[in-house]
Amino acid sequence: MTSTNTLRLPIPEKPYPDWSRFLSAVWLHGISVKHIDPLAVSEHVDRASESIKEAMTRRSEANTIRPSAFIACARQTYFAATGSPSGGMPDNIGPTFAIGHLLHELSYAAIRSALPKGFEAEIEKEVNLPNWWPDDYSRFNQSGHVDMLLTVSDPAAHEAYLGTEQPHTMLIDFKTMGGYSYRKHGKTIFGEDPDAFGYLAQLAVYSDTLGTTEAGAIIAGINRDSLTQPLFPRYITAQALKDELARVKVAIDMALENEDPGEEFLIRHDKEAYFQCGRGGKRGFCAFRDICKANPTREF
Ligand code: SF4
Repeated sequence: MTSTNTLRLPIPEKPYPDWSRFLSAVWLHGISVKHIDPLAVSEHVDRASESIKEAMTRRSEANTIRPSAFIACARQTYFAATGSPSGGMPDNIGPTFAIGHLLHELSYAAIRSALPKGFEAEIEKEVNLPNWWPDDYSRFNQSGHVDMLLTVSDPAAHEAYLGTEQPHTMLIDFKTMGGYSYRKHGKTIFGEDPDAFGYLAQLAVYSDTLGTTEAGAIIAGINRDSLTQPLFPRYITAQALKDELARVKVAIDMALENEDPGEEFLIRHDKEAYFQCGRGGKRGFCAFRDICKANPTREF
């Protein structure tokens, strides 16, 4: 996608130290009314409008396993693969998704507007899943999409904005968050702290299928409670992506073998998993929390 705007991010005095800070600067520059490209805004608001209508009127309760669902915990994968009943989403979740779609699209417009020449942004890029992903159409999605893949093809732009030590490409997943989650996002140790929403799992699978794992990836937080807050990109290392991928593969293998892994997320994270799993007086939001609790394999 290209922009008609010429008010792109200026060349810095010295390169940004990493992709996270470069991305923050591009977003902040582009979101300004002085720099955003009206044509990009128009295109992305049109796209958002379709997604908003869908979020408010269509319900998708399918338990199909996909990079964005049911792979954060091995027992979720097992329950989804074996057709176990899930709790589903609350009936009033539509506005949350709708606002998320709008904020995603406005961020895409901002980045397209300010991205320097020599960089390309692929937005909502369709991707097939990796070779090892089960080709079982009834239980596993066979394709997906990534929010954004940024690539720098011009060596001069690479050197000026990032320095040549930085990778040529960066996979970015945008997540809208409430204020509490946005603050927590800033402190999360990816690969150690509970990945309750499966953000890391999703990026591990998509990095593998795109062949970008060695570059790492970015989860960029958008604060939906305070819209003047900056974009909050967090870098995920290649090692964290590889470790997560290995865990996801084991989870999928066990699900295909019909083997119940037990309360895997609770085993891994103990009390820190209560928020997700609905234990210790917490409500929980795992779609399988009821069936999981009703079929204990150990004491918690
Ligand atoms: S409740 Fe927790 S342990 Fe059980 S399936 Fe859900 S995430 Fe996994």
